[in-house]
Amino acid sequence: MRYLVTNSVVTRCLLPSALPNEGARGKSFPPAGAGLNGRKDDWTGPRRSLGRSPLNQCFPASPVVVDLHMHTSCSHGTADVESMYLSARSKGLAVIGFSEHSPRPDGFVYPSDYREKLVRGLPDYLREVREIARRGAARGIEVLSGIEADYLRGYEAYTRDFLCGRDFDYVIGGLHFQGTWGFDADRADWDRLSRRERFGAYARYYDDLTAMCESGLFHIAAHPDLIKIFSIEDFKLWLDTDEAVSLLRRALTAVRDAGMLLEVSSAGLRKPCREIYPGPRIMTVATELGLDIAFASDAHCVDTPAFAFAELARYAASFGYTYSCIPTRGGQARRMPFSVPSP
Ligand SMILES: [Zn+2]
Ligand SMILES: [Zn+2]
Repeated sequence: MRYLVTNSVVTRCLLPSALPNEGARGKSFPPAGAGLNGRKDDWTGPRRSLGRSPLNQCFPASPVVVDLHMHTSCSHGTADVESMYLSARSKGLAVIGFSEHSPRPDGFVYPSDYREKLVRGLPDYLREVREIARRGAARGIEVLSGIEADYLRGYEAYTRDFLCGRDFDYVIGGLHFQGTWGFDADRADWDRLSRRERFGAYARYYDDLTAMCESGLFHIAAHPDLIKIFSIEDFKLWLDTDEAVSLLRRALTAVRDAGMLLEVSSAGLRKPCREIYPGPRIMTVATELGLDIAFASDAHCVDTPAFAFAELARYAASFGYTYSCIPTRGGQARRMPFSVPSP
């Protein structure tokens, strides 16, 4: 993959040499039945890199038709699996990925938490997603059973144990905690922090993102600058610092070296930061490093599957992207071209 930079617009050029299993991501995904879908002994997460695959010619470019990040009432969403599926289908999605939260260990709780509900409901949720997947297949819609698992530093074994033996199509890695502090829950927490303390939190976030990728447990890096949620002005100031440049590049290099996808999420548009995750500075580094992306709405209600996807498509295209990717069990990240609708 090479990039042409013209008048600060980065154009992504697919070259013949970029086709299958080329470059840093030549390592292969485990075959079906291993890794996520296998026994504990089979866990091969740390080596689950997504190989490149040729552009899937079966799918002509169309508006974004993939949403890999949706929650349900099994956690803190407001709608059940069926309702979310029907909503996603009505938005014209061809690939619908459910990615419920994973239960957190004791001590990692939000002010109003849903851990017990999630633990109780997860088996039913997984069954419902599988059933919906069967119905979707009959209509030519692909429904995937993913999970958004927290990366909690020092709790890698806990996360690995949770993932092992469960039948997920892909795993999204999410950073929501620093220590046991759920940093995206309450603006008041941020109001109490000095700018210096906020800068410290941003730095820790990218340090954690690096560690998350190095853990090898995840396919997709969720909302890669969620830490800006309640303090975007300070976050932009921090991005200008030498520390930020260095930590950010290290973290995104770790995304690349782990063969992971970078999530591009419209959820930020609905949050106080009012900006897509990740912001333009991070997208620029992502294109420089040749990262592949995955589209996400992070929907928690029936109104938000595929939320603002036209805007998301224009945004990704402005950085040279012409396709998003879907992790597959077969060993490669499948590419789905998208078109850019007129404003
Ligand atoms: Zn999340
Ligand atoms: Zn989420």
